[in-house]
Amino acid sequence: MTQMYESLGISREVYEYSEKILNGLNDRFQKIDETSEYNQLKVIKAMQDARVSAECFETSSGYGYNDRGRDTLEAVYANIFHTEAALVRPQITCGTHALAIALSANLRPGDELLSISGKPYDTLEEVIGIRPSRGSLAEYGVTYAQVDLLPDGGFDYDAIRKAIKPQTKLVEIQRSKGYQTRPTLSVTQIGEAIAFVKSIRPDILCMVDNCYGEFVEKKEPGELGADMVVGSLIKNPGGGLAPAGGYIAGTLACIEQCAFRLTSPGLGREVGANFGVMQSFYQGLFLAPTVTAAALKGAVFAANVYENLGFAVVPNGSEERHDIIQAITFGFPEGVISFCEGIQAAAPVDSYVTPEPWAMPGYDSDVIMAAGAFVQGSSIELSADGPIKPPYAVYFQGGLTWPHAKLGIMMSLQKLYEKGLVKLA
Ligand SMILES: *Cc1c(COP(=O)(O)O)cnc(C)c1O
Repeated sequence: MTQMYESLGISREVYEYSEKILNGLNDRFQKIDETSEYNQLKVIKAMQDARVSAECFETSSGYGYNDRGRDTLEAVYANIFHTEAALVRPQITCGTHALAIALSANLRPGDELLSISGKPYDTLEEVIGIRPSRGSLAEYGVTYAQVDLLPDGGFDYDAIRKAIKPQTKLVEIQRSKGYQTRPTLSVTQIGEAIAFVKSIRPDILCMVDNCYGEFVEKKEPGELGADMVVGSLIKNPGGGLAPAGGYIAGTLACIEQCAFRLTSPGLGREVGANFGVMQSFYQGLFLAPTVTAAALKGAVFAANVYENLGFAVVPNGSEERHDIIQAITFGFPEGVISFCEGIQAAAPVDSYVTPEPWAMPGYDSDVIMAAGAFVQGSSIELSADGPIKPPYAVYFQGGLTWPHAKLGIMMSLQKLYEKGLVKLA
Protein backbone atom coordinates (compact mmCIF):
# COMPACT_ATOMS: atom_id res chain seq x y z
CA MET A 1 0.00 0.00 0.00
CA THR A 2 2.77 2.47 0.93
CA GLN A 3 4.42 1.73 -2.42
CA MET A 4 1.23 2.53 -4.29
CA TYR A 5 0.89 5.79 -2.38
CA GLU A 6 4.56 6.54 -3.04
CA SER A 7 3.99 6.05 -6.76
CA LEU A 8 1.37 8.82 -6.54
CA GLY A 9 3.73 11.13 -4.70
CA ILE A 10 2.75 10.53 -1.07
CA SER A 11 5.72 10.33 1.29
CA ARG A 12 5.99 7.84 4.12
CA GLU A 13 5.69 10.64 6.71
CA VAL A 14 2.36 11.81 5.26
CA TYR A 15 1.11 8.23 4.92
CA GLU A 16 1.94 7.39 8.52
CA TYR A 17 0.49 10.62 9.85
CA SER A 18 -2.73 9.97 7.93
CA GLU A 19 -3.04 6.39 9.17
CA LYS A 20 -2.57 7.60 12.74
CA ILE A 21 -5.45 10.08 12.34
CA LEU A 22 -7.64 7.46 10.63
CA ASN A 23 -7.19 5.00 13.48
CA GLY A 24 -9.20 7.33 15.68
CA LEU A 25 -12.09 7.68 13.24
CA ASN A 26 -13.56 4.16 13.17
CA ASP A 27 -16.65 5.02 15.21
CA ARG A 28 -17.39 8.11 13.13
CA PHE A 29 -17.09 6.15 9.90
CA GLN A 30 -19.31 3.41 11.22
CA LYS A 31 -22.08 5.93 11.91
CA ILE A 32 -21.71 7.40 8.43
CA ASP A 33 -21.99 3.90 6.94
CA GLU A 34 -25.10 3.21 8.97
CA THR A 35 -26.83 6.37 7.69
CA SER A 36 -25.81 5.52 4.15
CA GLU A 37 -27.17 1.98 4.52
CA TYR A 38 -30.50 3.38 5.73
CA ASN A 39 -30.66 5.88 2.86
CA GLN A 40 -29.65 3.25 0.30
CA LEU A 41 -32.59 1.13 1.40
CA LYS A 42 -34.86 4.20 1.26
CA VAL A 43 -33.84 4.84 -2.36
CA ILE A 44 -34.27 1.20 -3.40
CA LYS A 45 -37.70 1.05 -1.75
CA ALA A 46 -38.79 4.24 -3.53
CA MET A 47 -37.63 2.83 -6.89
CA GLN A 48 -39.47 -0.45 -6.25
CA ASP A 49 -42.66 1.32 -5.13
CA ALA A 50 -42.65 3.43 -8.31
CA ARG A 51 -42.08 0.26 -10.42
CA VAL A 52 -38.95 1.60 -12.11
CA SER A 53 -38.27 -0.46 -15.24
CA ALA A 54 -35.82 -0.45 -18.16
CA GLU A 55 -38.29 1.63 -20.23
CA CYS A 56 -37.77 4.47 -17.77
CA PHE A 57 -34.29 4.98 -19.22
CA GLU A 58 -35.51 5.61 -22.76
CA THR A 59 -34.82 8.95 -24.34
CA SER A 60 -37.56 11.37 -25.34
CA SER A 61 -37.47 14.36 -27.67
CA GLY A 62 -39.64 17.24 -28.81
CA TYR A 63 -42.41 18.15 -26.37
CA GLY A 64 -41.69 15.12 -24.26
CA TYR A 65 -45.36 14.19 -23.79
CA ASN A 66 -46.02 11.00 -21.82
CA ASP A 67 -42.41 10.67 -20.72
CA ARG A 68 -42.71 7.69 -18.41
CA GLY A 69 -39.08 7.83 -17.27
CA ARG A 70 -39.36 11.48 -16.26
CA ASP A 71 -42.72 11.11 -14.51
CA THR A 72 -41.62 7.96 -12.66
CA LEU A 73 -38.37 9.59 -11.50
CA GLU A 74 -40.36 12.52 -10.14
CA ALA A 75 -42.52 10.04 -8.19
CA VAL A 76 -39.34 8.44 -6.81
CA TYR A 77 -38.01 11.82 -5.65
CA ALA A 78 -41.37 12.70 -4.07
CA ASN A 79 -41.26 9.42 -2.13
CA ILE A 80 -37.67 9.91 -0.93
CA PHE A 81 -38.25 13.53 0.11
CA HIS A 82 -41.67 12.75 1.67
CA THR A 83 -43.52 15.23 -0.51
CA GLU A 84 -46.61 15.00 -2.72
CA ALA A 85 -44.79 15.78 -5.96
CA ALA A 86 -41.47 16.74 -7.49
CA LEU A 87 -39.86 18.29 -10.55
CA VAL A 88 -36.54 16.65 -11.52
CA ARG A 89 -35.32 17.83 -14.86
CA PRO A 90 -32.34 18.59 -17.07
CA GLN A 91 -34.13 21.85 -17.99
CA ILE A 92 -33.43 23.04 -14.43
CA THR A 93 -29.86 24.17 -15.09
CA CYS A 94 -28.46 24.25 -11.55
CA GLY A 95 -29.31 24.75 -7.89
CA THR A 96 -29.65 28.51 -8.22
CA HIS A 97 -32.10 28.04 -11.08
CA ALA A 98 -34.16 25.54 -9.08
CA LEU A 99 -34.34 28.01 -6.18
CA ALA A 100 -35.19 30.89 -8.52
CA ILE A 101 -38.04 28.85 -10.01
CA ALA A 102 -39.37 27.84 -6.58
CA LEU A 103 -39.37 31.47 -5.42
CA SER A 104 -40.64 33.24 -8.52
CA ALA A 105 -43.34 30.61 -9.12
CA ASN A 106 -44.84 30.99 -5.67
CA LEU A 107 -44.42 34.72 -4.99
CA ARG A 108 -46.51 37.54 -6.49
CA PRO A 109 -46.09 41.33 -6.52
CA GLY A 110 -46.66 42.67 -3.02
CA ASP A 111 -45.62 39.42 -1.34
CA GLU A 112 -42.67 39.32 1.02
CA LEU A 113 -39.95 36.68 1.11
CA LEU A 114 -38.46 36.15 4.58
CA SER A 115 -35.14 34.38 5.09
CA ILE A 116 -34.86 33.10 8.67
CA SER A 117 -31.37 31.59 8.36
CA GLY A 118 -29.55 34.84 7.69
CA LYS A 119 -27.99 35.88 4.43
CA PRO A 120 -28.85 33.38 1.70
CA TYR A 121 -26.32 31.75 -0.61
CA ASP A 122 -24.38 34.29 -2.72
CA THR A 123 -26.07 33.58 -6.05
CA LEU A 124 -29.50 34.14 -4.47
CA GLU A 125 -28.65 37.75 -3.71
CA GLU A 126 -29.21 38.55 -7.36
CA VAL A 127 -32.27 36.29 -7.64
CA ILE A 128 -33.89 38.14 -4.76
CA GLY A 129 -32.49 41.56 -5.64
CA ILE A 130 -30.46 42.07 -2.45
CA ARG A 131 -27.79 43.00 -4.99
CA PRO A 132 -29.66 44.88 -7.73
CA SER A 133 -29.97 42.62 -10.75
CA ARG A 134 -32.01 42.43 -13.93
CA GLY A 135 -35.02 40.15 -13.61
CA SER A 136 -34.76 39.89 -9.81
CA LEU A 137 -37.79 39.32 -7.58
CA ALA A 138 -37.39 42.93 -6.41
CA GLU A 139 -38.03 44.13 -9.98
CA TYR A 140 -41.34 42.29 -9.85
CA GLY A 141 -42.36 43.97 -6.60
CA VAL A 142 -41.52 41.12 -4.23
CA THR A 143 -40.00 42.50 -1.03
CA TYR A 144 -37.38 40.79 1.12
CA ALA A 145 -36.73 40.60 4.84
CA GLN A 146 -34.11 38.68 6.79
CA VAL A 147 -33.67 37.36 10.31
CA ASP A 148 -30.13 36.37 11.20
CA LEU A 149 -29.28 33.23 13.14
CA LEU A 150 -28.27 33.66 16.78
CA PRO A 151 -24.56 33.67 17.63
CA ASP A 152 -24.83 29.94 18.53
CA GLY A 153 -26.22 29.22 15.06
CA GLY A 154 -29.80 28.58 16.22
CA PHE A 155 -32.97 30.28 14.99
CA ASP A 156 -33.89 33.64 16.55
CA TYR A 157 -37.54 32.83 17.30
CA ASP A 158 -38.42 36.21 18.85
CA ALA A 159 -37.09 38.05 15.82
CA ILE A 160 -38.86 35.62 13.44
CA ARG A 161 -42.19 36.25 15.20
CA LYS A 162 -41.68 40.02 14.83
CA ALA A 163 -40.60 39.75 11.18
CA ILE A 164 -43.73 37.87 10.07
CA LYS A 165 -46.07 40.44 8.55
CA PRO A 166 -49.41 40.11 6.72
CA GLN A 167 -47.57 40.20 3.38
CA THR A 168 -45.08 37.45 4.38
CA LYS A 169 -45.80 34.70 1.86
CA LEU A 170 -42.75 32.46 1.88
CA VAL A 171 -40.06 31.64 4.42
CA GLU A 172 -36.68 30.47 3.19
CA ILE A 173 -34.38 28.26 5.26
CA GLN A 174 -30.90 27.36 4.02
CA ARG A 175 -29.79 24.03 5.46
CA SER A 176 -26.09 24.18 4.60
CA LYS A 177 -23.76 26.91 5.77
CA GLY A 178 -22.65 27.27 2.16
CA TYR A 179 -19.51 29.40 2.23
CA GLN A 180 -20.12 30.96 5.62
CA THR A 181 -18.64 29.80 8.89
CA ARG A 182 -21.93 29.32 10.75
CA PRO A 183 -22.91 25.78 11.72
CA THR A 184 -25.12 23.89 9.28
CA LEU A 185 -28.70 23.38 10.43
CA SER A 186 -29.89 19.88 11.27
CA VAL A 187 -33.14 18.57 9.80
CA THR A 188 -34.58 18.48 13.34
CA GLN A 189 -33.77 22.17 13.86
CA ILE A 190 -35.32 23.00 10.49
CA GLY A 191 -38.44 21.04 11.40
CA GLU A 192 -38.79 23.02 14.64
CA ALA A 193 -38.51 26.31 12.75
CA ILE A 194 -41.12 25.21 10.21
CA ALA A 195 -43.49 24.20 13.02
CA PHE A 196 -42.93 27.58 14.66
CA VAL A 197 -43.67 29.53 11.46
CA LYS A 198 -46.78 27.41 10.77
CA SER A 199 -47.99 27.96 14.35
CA ILE A 200 -48.04 31.70 13.67
CA ARG A 201 -49.48 31.50 10.15
CA PRO A 202 -50.18 28.05 8.67
CA ASP A 203 -50.54 29.50 5.17
CA ILE A 204 -46.91 30.69 4.97
CA LEU A 205 -44.94 28.50 2.56
CA CYS A 206 -41.68 27.11 3.93
CA MET A 207 -38.93 26.44 1.39
CA VAL A 208 -35.67 24.71 2.28
CA ASP A 209 -32.50 25.22 0.24
CA ASN A 210 -31.32 21.62 0.63
CA CYS A 211 -28.05 21.93 -1.36
CA TYR A 212 -25.26 19.69 0.02
CA GLY A 213 -27.55 18.26 2.71
CA GLU A 214 -29.22 15.38 0.86
CA PHE A 215 -28.63 11.92 2.38
CA VAL A 216 -26.36 13.24 5.14
CA GLU A 217 -29.07 12.41 7.68
CA LYS A 218 -31.79 9.77 7.69
CA LYS A 219 -34.49 12.43 7.39
CA GLU A 220 -35.05 15.12 4.79
CA PRO A 221 -36.88 18.41 5.50
CA GLY A 222 -39.98 17.30 3.58
CA GLU A 223 -40.68 14.85 6.39
CA LEU A 224 -40.95 17.74 8.83
CA GLY A 225 -43.37 19.90 6.92
CA ALA A 226 -41.34 21.81 4.31
CA ASP A 227 -43.57 22.90 1.43
CA MET A 228 -40.62 22.84 -0.97
CA VAL A 229 -37.18 21.19 -0.78
CA VAL A 230 -34.78 22.36 -3.46
CA GLY A 231 -31.34 21.29 -4.72
CA SER A 232 -28.86 20.62 -7.50
CA LEU A 233 -28.15 17.35 -9.31
CA ILE A 234 -24.43 18.08 -9.62
CA LYS A 235 -24.30 17.87 -5.85
CA ASN A 236 -25.38 14.96 -3.59
CA PRO A 237 -28.55 13.55 -5.25
CA GLY A 238 -26.98 13.27 -8.72
CA GLY A 239 -24.47 10.80 -7.28
CA GLY A 240 -21.78 12.14 -9.64
CA LEU A 241 -23.51 10.66 -12.68
CA ALA A 242 -26.17 13.27 -13.48
CA PRO A 243 -24.57 15.53 -16.11
CA ALA A 244 -26.69 18.56 -15.08
CA GLY A 245 -30.05 19.34 -13.53
CA GLY A 246 -31.94 20.35 -10.43
CA TYR A 247 -34.90 19.22 -8.37
CA ILE A 248 -37.79 20.73 -6.44
CA ALA A 249 -39.82 18.37 -4.22
CA GLY A 250 -42.90 19.72 -2.51
CA THR A 251 -46.64 19.94 -2.13
CA LEU A 252 -48.65 19.36 -5.29
CA ALA A 253 -49.84 22.98 -5.23
CA CYS A 254 -46.29 24.39 -5.03
CA ILE A 255 -44.86 21.97 -7.60
CA GLU A 256 -47.60 22.80 -10.11
CA GLN A 257 -46.81 26.50 -9.71
CA CYS A 258 -43.14 25.69 -10.29
CA ALA A 259 -43.94 23.68 -13.41
CA PHE A 260 -45.99 26.52 -14.90
CA ARG A 261 -43.04 28.80 -14.29
CA LEU A 262 -40.40 26.37 -15.58
CA THR A 263 -42.18 25.55 -18.84
CA SER A 264 -45.24 27.67 -19.48
CA PRO A 265 -48.65 28.49 -18.00
CA GLY A 266 -51.03 25.84 -19.28
CA LEU A 267 -48.28 23.35 -20.15
CA GLY A 268 -46.68 22.76 -16.75
CA ARG A 269 -45.31 19.33 -16.01
CA GLU A 270 -46.71 17.72 -19.18
CA VAL A 271 -43.83 18.86 -21.38
CA GLY A 272 -40.04 18.64 -21.17
CA ALA A 273 -38.07 16.06 -23.15
CA ASN A 274 -35.44 14.10 -21.22
CA PHE A 275 -32.69 14.07 -23.93
CA GLY A 276 -31.50 10.67 -22.80
CA VAL A 277 -30.30 11.68 -19.31
CA MET A 278 -32.73 9.42 -17.45
CA GLN A 279 -30.41 6.50 -16.84
CA SER A 280 -27.81 8.81 -15.30
CA PHE A 281 -30.45 10.50 -13.12
CA TYR A 282 -31.72 7.15 -11.82
CA GLN A 283 -28.34 5.52 -11.45
CA GLY A 284 -26.88 8.64 -9.83
CA LEU A 285 -29.73 8.75 -7.33
CA PHE A 286 -29.17 5.05 -6.61
CA LEU A 287 -25.49 5.76 -5.85
CA ALA A 288 -26.11 9.04 -4.00
CA PRO A 289 -26.28 7.62 -0.45
CA THR A 290 -22.87 5.90 -0.72
CA VAL A 291 -21.32 8.79 -2.65
CA THR A 292 -22.51 11.19 0.05
CA ALA A 293 -20.99 8.88 2.67
CA ALA A 294 -17.65 8.94 0.84
CA ALA A 295 -17.71 12.74 0.77
CA LEU A 296 -18.62 12.84 4.46
CA LYS A 297 -15.74 10.56 5.42
CA GLY A 298 -13.41 12.81 3.46
CA ALA A 299 -14.73 15.87 5.31
CA VAL A 300 -14.33 14.19 8.71
CA PHE A 301 -10.81 13.01 7.82
CA ALA A 302 -9.77 16.49 6.61
CA ALA A 303 -11.20 18.12 9.74
CA ASN A 304 -9.20 15.80 11.98
CA VAL A 305 -5.95 16.05 10.00
CA TYR A 306 -5.94 19.83 9.97
CA GLU A 307 -7.36 20.30 13.46
CA ASN A 308 -4.58 18.08 14.75
CA LEU A 309 -2.07 20.32 12.98
CA GLY A 310 -3.46 23.32 14.84
CA PHE A 311 -5.67 24.95 12.21
CA ALA A 312 -9.24 26.15 12.84
CA VAL A 313 -11.75 23.88 11.13
CA VAL A 314 -15.54 24.20 10.71
CA PRO A 315 -17.15 21.83 11.57
CA ASN A 316 -14.55 20.65 14.09
CA GLY A 317 -13.15 17.12 14.10
CA SER A 318 -15.71 15.60 16.45
CA GLU A 319 -18.93 17.50 15.62
CA GLU A 320 -21.95 15.83 14.05
CA ARG A 321 -22.31 16.60 10.31
CA HIS A 322 -25.31 18.05 8.51
CA ASP A 323 -23.70 18.75 5.13
CA ILE A 324 -20.57 17.73 3.20
CA ILE A 325 -18.66 21.05 3.24
CA GLN A 326 -15.47 21.41 5.29
CA ALA A 327 -13.85 24.77 5.98
CA ILE A 328 -10.18 24.95 7.00
CA THR A 329 -8.64 28.28 8.02
CA PHE A 330 -4.92 28.44 7.28
CA GLY A 331 -4.35 32.10 8.11
CA PHE A 332 -1.80 32.51 5.29
CA PRO A 333 -2.25 32.42 1.49
CA GLU A 334 0.27 29.63 0.77
CA GLY A 335 -1.85 27.29 2.89
CA VAL A 336 -4.92 27.79 0.70
CA ILE A 337 -2.87 27.55 -2.49
CA SER A 338 -0.97 24.40 -1.45
CA PHE A 339 -4.16 22.71 -0.30
CA CYS A 340 -5.83 23.35 -3.67
CA GLU A 341 -2.71 22.16 -5.52
CA GLY A 342 -2.93 18.87 -3.62
CA ILE A 343 -6.61 18.33 -4.40
CA GLN A 344 -5.92 19.02 -8.08
CA ALA A 345 -2.88 16.73 -8.18
CA ALA A 346 -4.97 13.85 -6.77
CA ALA A 347 -7.72 14.14 -9.41
CA PRO A 348 -8.41 11.53 -12.10
CA VAL A 349 -8.92 14.34 -14.65
CA ASP A 350 -6.60 17.34 -15.20
CA SER A 351 -4.19 16.19 -12.48
CA TYR A 352 -1.28 17.70 -14.38
CA VAL A 353 -2.51 21.31 -14.22
CA THR A 354 -1.58 23.64 -11.39
CA PRO A 355 -4.45 25.79 -10.14
CA GLU A 356 -3.68 29.47 -9.68
CA PRO A 357 -5.55 32.30 -7.99
CA TRP A 358 -7.35 34.60 -10.43
CA ALA A 359 -9.94 37.39 -10.42
CA MET A 360 -13.46 36.00 -10.83
CA PRO A 361 -16.65 37.91 -11.56
CA GLY A 362 -18.66 38.51 -8.40
CA TYR A 363 -15.69 38.21 -6.02
CA ASP A 364 -13.72 41.06 -4.47
CA SER A 365 -10.43 39.13 -4.28
CA ASP A 366 -8.58 36.51 -6.31
CA VAL A 367 -10.00 33.01 -5.92
CA ILE A 368 -8.25 29.68 -6.34
CA MET A 369 -10.23 26.59 -7.35
CA ALA A 370 -9.24 22.96 -7.62
CA ALA A 371 -11.36 20.41 -9.42
CA GLY A 372 -10.53 17.57 -11.72
CA ALA A 373 -14.08 16.50 -12.36
CA PHE A 374 -15.87 14.31 -14.88
CA VAL A 375 -18.81 16.74 -14.86
CA GLN A 376 -17.91 20.39 -15.20
CA GLY A 377 -18.43 22.31 -11.95
CA SER A 378 -19.67 19.22 -10.15
CA SER A 379 -19.06 19.77 -6.45
CA ILE A 380 -20.08 16.28 -5.34
CA GLU A 381 -16.76 15.39 -6.98
CA LEU A 382 -13.64 16.19 -4.94
CA SER A 383 -13.16 19.95 -5.16
CA ALA A 384 -11.83 22.88 -3.17
CA ASP A 385 -11.79 26.64 -3.44
CA GLY A 386 -10.82 29.63 -1.42
CA PRO A 387 -10.60 33.39 -1.78
CA ILE A 388 -7.07 34.76 -1.39
CA LYS A 389 -7.89 37.13 1.46
CA PRO A 390 -7.94 36.93 5.26
CA PRO A 391 -8.66 34.71 7.07
CA TYR A 392 -7.27 32.56 4.21
CA ALA A 393 -9.78 29.74 4.51
CA VAL A 394 -10.33 26.95 2.03
CA TYR A 395 -13.68 25.24 1.46
CA PHE A 396 -13.50 21.65 0.53
CA GLN A 397 -16.19 19.15 -0.47
CA GLY A 398 -17.06 16.02 -2.37
CA GLY A 399 -15.37 12.81 -3.36
CA LEU A 400 -17.21 10.12 -5.31
CA THR A 401 -15.33 7.39 -3.47
CA TRP A 402 -13.71 7.38 -0.05
CA PRO A 403 -10.27 6.25 -1.33
CA HIS A 404 -10.21 9.21 -3.70
CA ALA A 405 -11.27 11.68 -1.00
CA LYS A 406 -8.57 10.21 1.25
CA LEU A 407 -5.90 10.53 -1.45
CA GLY A 408 -6.92 14.14 -2.13
CA ILE A 409 -6.52 15.13 1.51
CA MET A 410 -3.25 13.25 1.84
CA MET A 411 -1.98 15.01 -1.29
CA SER A 412 -3.00 18.40 0.12
CA LEU A 413 -1.02 17.56 3.25
CA GLN A 414 1.90 16.41 1.10
CA LYS A 415 2.03 19.81 -0.65
CA LEU A 416 1.96 21.70 2.66
CA TYR A 417 4.60 19.36 4.08
CA GLU A 418 6.94 19.70 1.08
CA LYS A 419 6.82 23.49 1.38
CA GLY A 420 7.62 23.31 5.08
CA LEU A 421 4.26 24.83 6.05
CA VAL A 422 3.38 22.06 8.50
CA LYS A 423 5.32 19.80 10.87
CA LEU A 424 4.14 16.20 11.17
CA ALA A 425 4.67 15.28 14.81
C1 LIG B 1 -24.44 25.30 -4.40
C2 LIG B 1 -25.49 25.98 -3.63
C3 LIG B 1 -26.49 26.72 -4.27
C4 LIG B 1 -26.49 27.00 -5.74
O1 LIG B 1 -26.36 25.89 -6.53
P1 LIG B 1 -25.65 25.99 -7.98
O2 LIG B 1 -25.92 24.66 -8.55
O3 LIG B 1 -24.22 26.29 -7.75
O4 LIG B 1 -26.36 27.07 -8.71
C5 LIG B 1 -27.47 27.28 -3.47
N1 LIG B 1 -27.46 27.14 -2.14
C6 LIG B 1 -26.51 26.45 -1.49
C7 LIG B 1 -26.55 26.32 0.01
C8 LIG B 1 -25.50 25.84 -2.22
O5 LIG B 1 -24.56 25.14 -1.58
